[in-house]
Amino acid sequence: MLERIRIVLIGTSHPGNIGGVARAMHNMGLADLALVAPRCEVITQDSISRASGADHLLHRSASHPTLEAAVNDCTLVVGASARSRTLPWPMISPRELGQRLPEECRAPQARIALVFGREDSGLTNAELQRCHAHVHIPTNADFSSLNLAAAVQVLAYECRMTWLDQPENAPQQQKADDPAAQTLATHAELEHFFAHLERTLIAIEFHDPAQPRQLMARLRRLYLRARPERMELNILRGILSATEKTAKSAETPPSEHP
Ligand code: SAH
Repeated sequence: MLERIRIVLIGTSHPGNIGGVARAMHNMGLADLALVAPRCEVITQDSISRASGADHLLHRSASHPTLEAAVNDCTLVVGASARSRTLPWPMISPRELGQRLPEECRAPQARIALVFGREDSGLTNAELQRCHAHVHIPTNADFSSLNLAAAVQVLAYECRMTWLDQPENAPQQQKADDPAAQTLATHAELEHFFAHLERTLIAIEFHDPAQPRQLMARLRRLYLRARPERMELNILRGILSATEKTAKSAETPPSEHP
């Protein structure tokens, strides 16, 4: 899905912003960058340093003379706009954009362009009218224009969140055969621990079995919630043994020296 998304920048004038866009894209797993009539050099010290290790996207980016050329093969073109225009157009939120992606990507030839405008003047009306829909990032109404790379970051993040929601891309849950899951303490180990805990609490006179006040039930609930690993339970049992030993030596009267 993410490989179907192309970020199109029109008439960008600061190399640093192009570098920042490359970084935002690579952070979110996007790789297709297209530049339309950039008004600056693309590969400069500034763009490379702002790309912070994602400059391969700059070297790989395609340059086009017009928006049409950059989105020719795209099945959905969405223009990012900082303000509302005179002619109403289908408007979606960044979240809706993300949520539409799985459906939009069903066709094998599907390709989606997210189009961003110039730092000083945004997208022209003619450019906006070449888009299927517009997306506006909700902002403070009095200060609605984001930095170009920041705007790309927000939309790329929403795309990634949807991508992560797909079961095949979700971070793997610990499976039963996972080594980390195998180290979880068993029921029997926990029961030994609870018995040891109770003995120790009685020995140090914290717990009075004649007046239990649900102490052990509350402690059980606490430790069971934590799902301790075997190794963690061993540490706790070590602490209990040391506590018992110290309590015992405190109650033995000092040996008498004749
Ligand atoms: N001064 C310009 C905005 C330039 S910001 C104007 O008033 O239109 C550069 C680009 O970042 C914009 O063209 C747009 O594509 C994107 N952008 C900035 N803020 C945005 C916002 N709040 N929502 C959607 N896109 C935004």
